[in-house]
Amino acid sequence: MTRVLTGVGIGRGIAVGPALRMPDPLPEPASTPSTIGPDAEKERLTGALAATAEDIRQRGEKAGGQAQAVLEAQALMADDPTLRSDADSRVDNGATAERAVHEAFAGFRDMLVGLGGYMAERATDLDDVAQRVIARLSGVAAPGVPTSETPFVLVARDLAPADTALLDLERVLAVVTSEGGPTSHTAILAREKGITAVVGVHGVLDLTDGTPVVVDAVAGSVAVDPDAETLDRASRAAEERAKRADVPVGPGALADGTPVPLLANLGSADGVEAAVAAGAEGVGLFRTEFLFLDATTAPTVAQQYTQYARLLRGFPGKKVVVRVLDAGADKPLSFLNDAPEENPALGLRGIRALRATEQILRDQLTALARAASETDALVQVMAPMIATVEETRYFTALAHELGVPVAGVMVEVPSAALLADRVLGETDFASIGTNDLTQYTLAADRLLGSVAALQDPWHPAVLRLIREVGRAGTALGKPVGICGEAAADPLLAVVLVGLGATSLSMSPSAIADVRAELLQHTREQAGRLAEAALSAEDGAAARAAVRSLLPESV
Ligand code: PEP
Ligand code: MG
Repeated sequence: MTRVLTGVGIGRGIAVGPALRMPDPLPEPASTPSTIGPDAEKERLTGALAATAEDIRQRGEKAGGQAQAVLEAQALMADDPTLRSDADSRVDNGATAERAVHEAFAGFRDMLVGLGGYMAERATDLDDVAQRVIARLSGVAAPGVPTSETPFVLVARDLAPADTALLDLERVLAVVTSEGGPTSHTAILAREKGITAVVGVHGVLDLTDGTPVVVDAVAGSVAVDPDAETLDRASRAAEERAKRADVPVGPGALADGTPVPLLANLGSADGVEAAVAAGAEGVGLFRTEFLFLDATTAPTVAQQYTQYARLLRGFPGKKVVVRVLDAGADKPLSFLNDAPEENPALGLRGIRALRATEQILRDQLTALARAASETDALVQVMAPMIATVEETRYFTALAHELGVPVAGVMVEVPSAALLADRVLGETDFASIGTNDLTQYTLAADRLLGSVAALQDPWHPAVLRLIREVGRAGTALGKPVGICGEAAADPLLAVVLVGLGATSLSMSPSAIADVRAELLQHTREQAGRLAEAALSAEDGAAARAAVRSLLPESV
């Protein structure tokens, strides 16, 4: 009999195929002493480290692009002489090669975590290399994406970013994870690559390999052992969706013609081509901090001017919203806020950090004004993490003073949403950052897997805050954009328009699906869907309430 598991769907895909489980991490190697002696253990070590480095390099060459750089860095870890001599000395003291690798890598891991920030994020990469070496030594399959000659649905606890980036899209029909929420790395990358995915599916890890499943991202469901009727409905829904997604590239609009500009979220000028090809009508969020993550000193006006002008030249006559540096928490910038904090998400971040070093903010606005005056893009600027009306006034006035004529604020902190009428009264527009707004509304760290289920922008508490901003925008005639991941969820995008959003900004790969969904609903229908979501008691109920009003669902 068909059994249905549920989670959070990403995108609009539907896939049918056999489940294939990604192996869990290996158990910790036993600390029992070696029986073959140090020389033989060292020989095993040499072979396993070299073969692992080679394997990782080959995967990198196959993947190319950014993934190759990530994997090359991992291969260097397997070749690292310091790690090797650490492992050797453990072997000299009687450890097995497996145990020596485990302990040596764990020691380095702790050191990286202790350094914090960017270095701490490399700890996962180090763990992955250690697991691969130990698997090779023990003669078992390396954890990681399994290989298969035939297409399959990948089932995993969660995917490392490198795993997601490397997925063979010819073989992997869909991804289902038991962990993670809609803003987890897996979800963001799956959305970016157009992979059908359902995340946070409780119970999916119990499936045995080969079990047939239907994965429906719109319904957020995984039908296990589907009967003939379920399979039939799935194929009809897939056909229907393919037909719908086939709408020509053009400006975003509702079924009644109400325009809803679809804009791109970008982190560098490299993404311009893909954004233009996807039909982005401009840029709704340019994350400038991504340009300077590795910088140890503040970028000069000239350096910034070059970067901004490159981006702006890609959008002549189009709106480009540039966000000033959003440093802190998940995006540390050592030249802006280096001091360790107990709760970085609640610390000196965003506009607070910029204000504390105002010259950096002034330089950025100056560089932007210069780039704007020399290109044809319609440049706007906005500030992240605005919490008060006074901060809004401060930022808007400074941007105007330094030559950027249109300045707005991001609404990512509940206080700014609750005072939206006052905030919008002091600035030119608002752009809602639903990732942070959800994190702060539900008090759930967006980086923490254990609370990922709470990081759900469908939650009516988040939607009610968005409604406040939408209402204020309508009353004052000021634009209210959405630039968090929520805008990339096609159905939620319709709800957001129903709540008063006037434009949607997302990763370019999400634009086609959102465009297709908007065309299915009039403004009045979008309002009704929004009402249904607002009156639910939690995110899952809001999704279900909205889906129940739609004609199609598997
Ligand atoms: C957000 O918080 O929703 C947002 C768009 O900003 P970021 O994800 O860069 O914090
Ligand atoms: Mg944010």
